[in-house]
Amino acid sequence: MTRNCIVVTGASKGIGAAIARALAEQGHHVACLSRSGGLPAGGGVAPEVAARWLACNADVTRPETLAVAFKGLVADGWKIVGLVNNAGMHIDAASADVSLEQWNQVMNTNATSVVTACQAAYPHLVAAGGGMIVNIGSFFDKLGVKRNLAYCASKAAVGAITRVLAAEWAGKGIRAINVAPGYIMTDLNGDVMEAGGPLRAYLDKRIPGREPGTAADVGELVAALYSPAGRFINGETIYIDGGQGIAH
Ligand code: NDP
Repeated sequence: MTRNCIVVTGASKGIGAAIARALAEQGHHVACLSRSGGLPAGGGVAPEVAARWLACNADVTRPETLAVAFKGLVADGWKIVGLVNNAGMHIDAASADVSLEQWNQVMNTNATSVVTACQAAYPHLVAAGGGMIVNIGSFFDKLGVKRNLAYCASKAAVGAITRVLAAEWAGKGIRAINVAPGYIMTDLNGDVMEAGGPLRAYLDKRIPGREPGTAADVGELVAALYSPAGRFINGETIYIDGGQGIAH
């Protein structure tokens, strides 16, 4: 039996796990990719929801591992109709000190991988008669955040990649949307954002609603985009940051 599925990268924890959960709760089958190959973390998942997940091992910085994962999905009867490029990383370093190796690591993981994963998904989405790609960017794409040279550049690239693919692939029935979160409590930054952490007092002042978002907030938004409500959205960057990006 062929099952339509949405591939989510970096789905073993954090925002990716929440996206996988929200999509499965909406009835989608979800291929959950990560280097560890684990199922999405977090308890309390209904058995019928977990039954829609399949965990696969892949490193988004190594396109050959993505090709193997996609091939395995097809061999198992999964038809790829969507892709969420969520896997990402962050390095904290003064701009004068960022090494070429660090720059390449962040750009490869956050931006180049979006291109290679989209290219790997393209023939599948065309064969499916169309589909949708959601890229997880960041509201840092429009800010000059100290010690975030490579991260800000990589997320600005994600917005640009999204716009070009949306324009170029629309004729094939493929849409692309960039979801750009603000501060979300996950392992990526939870240590600095938790109550009493170095960033928390600052965030309490800067986020109009006075609290960071949750991974579930982003998961629900992505699931909504995969519902009929998202049908006419294409190429846009949608900020989900509690208003921090527009606050002064
Ligand atoms: P986490 O560090 O909590 O989770 C990252 C996930 O990506 C894990 O599942 C990890 O699994 C996977 N991953 C990391 N590197 C790779 C790789 N090379 N190949 C495949 N999978 C990989 O991060 P978040 O959930 O916080 O972030 C997810 C995305 O959201 C990122 O793109 C991040 O930039 C973006 N974002 C996050 C914000 C935040 O405040 N948290 C704000 C704005 C954007 P494994 O280690 O097993 O591979």
